[in-house]
Amino acid sequence: MSSSITRRQVVGSLAVAPLFVRHARAADVPRFGLGIASGHPRADRVVLWTRLSGADLPAKVEVGWELAHDEAFTRIAARGTEVADASWGHSVHAEPQGLETGRGYWYRFTALGQRSPVGRTRTAPAADAAASLRFAIASCQRFDHNHYAAWHHVAAQDLDLVLFLGDYIYEYASPPNALRLHDGPTTLTLDDYRARYAQYKSDPALQAAHASAPWITVWDDHEIENDYADGTPQGGPEPLFASRRAAATQAYWEHMPFPKAWRPRGSALRLYERYDWGRLARLHTLDDRQYRDVQACPRRGRSGSNTVLRKECDALVDPKRSLLGAQQERWLTDGWDTQRPWNLVAQQTLMARFSWTDPAQGGTYWTDGWDGYAASRQRLLQGVAERQLPGAVVLGGDVHAHYVADLKVDYDDGKAPVVASEFCGTSISSNGMAQSRVDAALPHNPHLRYARSDQRGYVSFTLDAKQLQAQLQVVLDPKNPASEVNVAARFAVELGRPGPQPA
Ligand code: FE
Ligand code: CA
Repeated sequence: MSSSITRRQVVGSLAVAPLFVRHARAADVPRFGLGIASGHPRADRVVLWTRLSGADLPAKVEVGWELAHDEAFTRIAARGTEVADASWGHSVHAEPQGLETGRGYWYRFTALGQRSPVGRTRTAPAADAAASLRFAIASCQRFDHNHYAAWHHVAAQDLDLVLFLGDYIYEYASPPNALRLHDGPTTLTLDDYRARYAQYKSDPALQAAHASAPWITVWDDHEIENDYADGTPQGGPEPLFASRRAAATQAYWEHMPFPKAWRPRGSALRLYERYDWGRLARLHTLDDRQYRDVQACPRRGRSGSNTVLRKECDALVDPKRSLLGAQQERWLTDGWDTQRPWNLVAQQTLMARFSWTDPAQGGTYWTDGWDGYAASRQRLLQGVAERQLPGAVVLGGDVHAHYVADLKVDYDDGKAPVVASEFCGTSISSNGMAQSRVDAALPHNPHLRYARSDQRGYVSFTLDAKQLQAQLQVVLDPKNPASEVNVAARFAVELGRPGPQPA
């Protein structure tokens, strides 16, 4: 049920018996109606998140938190209080520190006489510890397209980590025939974005997935607006976009388990970051929205994405254009880990080249993804090749399809070596394009080993010092919140042999 319906019902009864209902509300309105979450695990710390719900909250509310070794909370590892402030949407970002490395914990909150559900989280292993990692990638959870059966399945897996790779919300108003309607019109103001996150977070499957494991999240475009590029919205330059972007950025920080130090100033929120998982892996998270150049060759009078012939758009390969911005590109080049076996790159979209027509004739490309910034991709993969990284794996989302791919520095050279492996996970719930269109393009893209746009789901992984195993998880009936979820295909990557193999 949506939060605005709840609010409307409460307001309606207030008009009948104000005094009685006001007293009843303070005790009965659920304060943890948006669930709880944890995230950004380090070897000695983790972030615990909640946001209080209810329209009658005081400006400041004291919120207690506890972290325990056991589910019954008999062995408390850390506890504290935070102030949930109205100016930050009554969100809470608690940061227990000095924790034991590489172990599971339980956590919960208390506020206004109520206790939250209990969540499970985990610290990263010590930097010098042998480790394995069970994790999932997920993206694109458009609420009005389908239900979240995939999240129930994630929650049941007891993973070490969930990586959410963008499109946590969608900014649109819903069409009248939608499966479940977005509350309100297109999100523009801070209140709009807060209400949209609150509606998404009212979903019990999403809440269960957050409560099951720590998450690391990056955004894509829809957390702000479809196809925006840095300061430019999809419709072209627009003076009001700066305030919309700042509002959306604040709401994003308020609703994610981000550290307090990440609290945004205006629309600046530093998301690109590194996370080490024992001796096993370094995870690099990238932000391909905030610093990118505007898309190449837009439709007349607009900005945003387009699909264009290479012959008609030299900007596609202009070496001056970047998807990450010069500073982030340099940060990534300098940060490849040559000690740990695996470098995982968590970013937004498909990195492998995808041409809609024969590349021998130049090819046809979508300008919003890496194909619109081919030189930027080439610089990134050249860095991987030069360092001879034995286990570089790129993880993505955005395109609402499961893609498994070989990554090469030069796709025009049939003999060019594979330098890295790619898993681009399909959407949790957002609809994809017709499979027939993808099938028709497959002959032009022989480096794709799996390509299904007609499946909703996510990808789960098991990583150890020798091998990465991937399961492409697929929701049987996306319209059913209790649908079965099955493994449609399995792939493996052997350390030292870039390129996913069927397993
Ligand atoms: Fe999406
Ligand atoms: Ca997107």
